Amino acid sequence: MELTLNNGVMMPALGLGVFQSPPEQTTAAVQAALSAGYRHIDTAAAYGNEREVGEGIRRSGVDRTDVFIETKVWVSDYGYDQTLHAWDKSAGKLGVDYLDLLILHQPAPDRFEKTIAAYKALETLLADGRVRAIGVSNFMPHHLEQLLAATTVVPAVNQIELHPYFAQPAVQAADAENGILTQAWSPIGGITFYPGWGEDRRNVMEDRTIAGIGLAHGKSPAQVMLRWHLQQGRSAIPKSTNPGRIAENFDVFDFELRADDLAAIDALDTGVRSGPDPDEARLERFSMPIPEA
Ligand code: NAP
Repeated sequence: MELTLNNGVMMPALGLGVFQSPPEQTTAAVQAALSAGYRHIDTAAAYGNEREVGEGIRRSGVDRTDVFIETKVWVSDYGYDQTLHAWDKSAGKLGVDYLDLLILHQPAPDRFEKTIAAYKALETLLADGRVRAIGVSNFMPHHLEQLLAATTVVPAVNQIELHPYFAQPAVQAADAENGILTQAWSPIGGITFYPGWGEDRRNVMEDRTIAGIGLAHGKSPAQVMLRWHLQQGRSAIPKSTNPGRIAENFDVFDFELRADDLAAIDALDTGVRSGPDPDEARLERFSMPIPEA
């Protein structure tokens, strides 16, 4: 299933995420995904595994041109020249001569002018054919408004925290109004249950409504959540390093949620995020350097 971006580029709706995939497991995870039928991988300079993603693609035997490669520029590389160079680092590690989608990992609220300069570098990379589409991540409507006022190319994608417990309807609406595709990170709610991120979170994977819908369709909670994204027109990039779960997360094209299933999942939104607030400057994290290729 493919989605058409606002510049006509086609993107497979479902991709493999690799945040927190240890480098030594990433190559095998990417190979498993490509063999299960995925044709879209979402990585980031900040994940420290672009090299292994590239290796997985090469080892899979799938043609590079048949794989949609998405990666992200980290905040420490924001600024016009720095972001042009961030392309060299990411493309070099991935071992490719073009990227399919390059996005800014998040707004940097303490240096928004550098965020804008970084985006202008993405516009240059797009014009030069070094990327096929450009976009943003974790941009709230007020960030989008500022960005759109200062730049020319409307982002193709805004990748945001989005799962049944935090669906961000206002961001989805702002994206839609501007022709930006919403892409869900933590699409199966990873941020609500990955270990070590706080004990007070409610695990969406254990939600009874979702389990009930899954039972009715003979599908797992993860499959129900992914189908909810797809039927509402979003891209989703579930992460797993487990071959069985990688295959499970792609086995979502043989059933259809009913309107009342979708509404029941929509009603689970708590309006409370589990991930970092995009308006908060996390200076220590922002300063993490990205190594050369
Ligand atoms: P997620 O994909 O919603 O969930 C991942 C977690 O779920 C992992 O702990 C995984 O463990 C487990 N899992 C995977 N499939 C499962 C299944 N079928 N049943 C039960 N558990 C399952 O969370 P995420 O990693 O936060 O988000 C996905 C991707 O979005 C990331 O990998 C990254 O590419 C992107 N992301 C972007 C941002 C951003 O700021 N732009 C932030 C976070 C994430 P196993 O590996 O053991 O299966």
